[in-house]
Amino acid sequence: MQASSDQQVGCAYCGSFVDGITKDHVFPKCLFPSEPASSRTQRITLPCCVACNRDISLDEEHFCKVLLCAGSPNDAVMDRWKSKALRSFDRGSHGMRQAKDLLDMMRPVTVDDRERHLIYPAKEERVLRVLRKIIRGLSHHFDVETAVPESRVWVDVLRPQIPDGLLDACGFQHRHAGVYECFGHAFGAEEPELTSLWLMLFYDRTPFVGLVSRCGVPTLVP
Ligand SMILES: [Zn+2]
Repeated sequence: MQASSDQQVGCAYCGSFVDGITKDHVFPKCLFPSEPASSRTQRITLPCCVACNRDISLDEEHFCKVLLCAGSPNDAVMDRWKSKALRSFDRGSHGMRQAKDLLDMMRPVTVDDRERHLIYPAKEERVLRVLRKIIRGLSHHFDVETAVPESRVWVDVLRPQIPDGLLDACGFQHRHAGVYECFGHAFGAEEPELTSLWLMLFYDRTPFVGLVSRCGVPTLVP
């Protein structure tokens, strides 16, 4: 067996051992404040091949903007909107396309007799894809399993209230103040369908729930 320092590091997402392994932020960098000194919390990063990293980066930019638009603004959302989102719209045709993608997601609704435009993150495949990638990264980070295929992950907005005590029962927890909280639970062999359950809350307002199946698409979907 080789010494650990000589061992090649594999991609946490696809499991491939290739040259050019990069570092991936499990929670996309665009979620965080520009000023790194604002928090001492260590961000979760994983080894990631160039292909996996490149494949998801544009969707991550879109994901961050969708989260900023989904719900009532708060201080963290306004900070990220002014410091990152607005600037990115300025980047020529790429920025314009990102702005159009957001506008295309807006749906008119009537609230208190006034028409408003709301955005529904769980109706957008690119948003769900980033959420699935975060769950795959968390599965690796917390040593549940590595290189989880995207096809085994299901995710949606969490609509019911979180049952009392569930978060305390989750064995894995990580939070970055004002950005996200995540909670995870790994099932034992007594659970035939699922390997893990994840709850993620962004900007203190948008909750998502995710399930990872043992095989195939999760069937125990609420
Ligand atoms: Zn990869």
